[in-house]
Amino acid sequence: MTCVTRRLVSVTAALALSVTGAAVAGPAHADPRETVKEATATGYGGAVSTVDPEASAAALDVLRKGGNAADAAVAAAATLGVTEPYSAGIGGGGYFVFYDAETGKVGTIDGRETAPAKMPNDAFINKATGQPYRFTPDLVTSGVSVGVPGTPATWERALDRWGSLSLGEALKPAIKVATRGFVVDQTFRQQTLDNKSRFAAFTSTSSLFLPGGDAPAVGSVFQNHDLAATYRLLAREGTDAFYGGPLAGEIASTVQAPPKTAGTDLPVPAGYLTAKDLAGYRALDQAPSHVEYRGLDVYGMAPSSSGGTTTGEALNILDTFNLADMSRPGALHHYLEASALAFADRGKYVGDPAFVDVPTEALTDPLFGKERACQIDPARAAAKPVLPGDVSSYDGVCPAAPAAAADEKDTENISTTNLTVADKWGNVAEYTLTIEQTGGSGIVVPGRGFLLNNELTDFSTVYDASDPNRIQPGKRPRSSMAPTIILKEGKPFLALGSPGGSTIITTVLQTILNRVDLGMDISEAIAAPRASQRNTAAVTAEPAFIDEFEEYLTGYGHKLNPSGDAFTSAAEIGAATAIEFLPGGGMTAAAEPVRRGGGSAMVLTPSR
Ligand code: GLU
Repeated sequence: MTCVTRRLVSVTAALALSVTGAAVAGPAHADPRETVKEATATGYGGAVSTVDPEASAAALDVLRKGGNAADAAVAAAATLGVTEPYSAGIGGGGYFVFYDAETGKVGTIDGRETAPAKMPNDAFINKATGQPYRFTPDLVTSGVSVGVPGTPATWERALDRWGSLSLGEALKPAIKVATRGFVVDQTFRQQTLDNKSRFAAFTSTSSLFLPGGDAPAVGSVFQNHDLAATYRLLAREGTDAFYGGPLAGEIASTVQAPPKTAGTDLPVPAGYLTAKDLAGYRALDQAPSHVEYRGLDVYGMAPSSSGGTTTGEALNILDTFNLADMSRPGALHHYLEASALAFADRGKYVGDPAFVDVPTEALTDPLFGKERACQIDPARAAAKPVLPGDVSSYDGVCPAAPAAAADEKDTENISTTNLTVADKWGNVAEYTLTIEQTGGSGIVVPGRGFLLNNELTDFSTVYDASDPNRIQPGKRPRSSMAPTIILKEGKPFLALGSPGGSTIITTVLQTILNRVDLGMDISEAIAAPRASQRNTAAVTAEPAFIDEFEEYLTGYGHKLNPSGDAFTSAAEIGAATAIEFLPGGGMTAAAEPVRRGGGSAMVLTPSR
């Protein structure tokens, strides 16, 4: 079992290192608690896994005081809004999946951001030049990319539907962390540095995240009093104070006239979001996607995310092969090929079902998967991109001729955060939330302490009327987020999810295969090196994966390219969290041992 323990400096010990700035100062009320990071924890009575020890501690505190998994998930998410503000927060959106122990049913909330009512379909074209905006850094650092945030509405809906706490109670731990501050680690500093020129483009963002012109130092204490005040407002008045009132007006005017600094040469195109768009936002209750894999029931997020249908289709394809009896490279070859096929269908068919006809049932139909499996040559990688299947006519029999071609374009960035919580009653929450890329749009709402998303860049960048993911006003851009809950004989077996843009789908898929087919325990399944085939000529792979498997996989005709790009410093794919449910009522919470600086797994009690 892979298990890394890391002890971070306590907030108290870090006081000497605290730096000054609008939101960074030595806290008067530091919590003396030492924060311990464990990547794996096994025990009873409740469990949590997140990327961050403060967020895991917040969830555990709620569970300890009698709250349930929905309450604890909201508390953890709000805390991540403080400690992981570049990945998630009230300026973004996400998808919440919940297993309700009382009904035995899985339900989901679609809290995806929506396009403003006035967003034109040529919003990504620079009117001055007639050419598309450069994707990075121009489009990603813009008001144009900001969708109507869904996260506050998701929290409120999750608590109403499954929780026992009020929003105010669930926000308490996060308010405490925002007020007393948290200790800056290398990941936070590096993410700030990666975004330095974007953050420096805005007066509000630079004063919050670049105090004194630099990223906060490792070991210093970072406080966010503005965010604490915004959370207190939501605690007092509910989300009406976000989707209406002065804050809604400020969000709209920030998007329409971003607070640019005088010196920036970024163009920062203005956006279209209005207070009316905010007033009209709704988080949606939705049926989960469902497939059966090796006798397990796999529930995921149906469109507007492509997470559930794409992992589901790939699992249906792989269910027709016996991976457990294959060599590891043989099993990986099938994984990569199944993933490419499922991505071809995602590209052709998946968008917001409120705007386009999405064949969710066909995409998750085992017969369709069986027919798609015909395209896999057990000895040879297909040339990419592979063609999509035909959802209008399939019978599980290998077709003679393929359907029309569609290429997969991938502009999603790799940010986001995921958390998993279970309680003593057997409820399970799996929640992925994001502001899109690390640092979102780069725009902090002045005086409010949070970044706005740039989720609308998940729409296809080139408008095509036949593309299910084309820009349309009011629409949710297609997501890859894939919070997943797996039941065995009706009871939770495994819950998992990950950040990572479109690699979310492959990370969740690969982790399931590692656990279910390849004999790994859940900690090993998360720690194992990753590769991602999203229907492109080359497989994107972590260096450790390339070291271990390149020789074998090139024998099948796969080409492996190292992950990471010029814009981000990390060469990692994903940052998964999971809980596995053990016979006899135990739970193993598992987080990343190394990726993103390591995650934080905790259980309520180590023994009964
Ligand atoms: N915007 C991405 C999605 O919805 C998530 C961003 C990320 O994980 O980096 O799929």
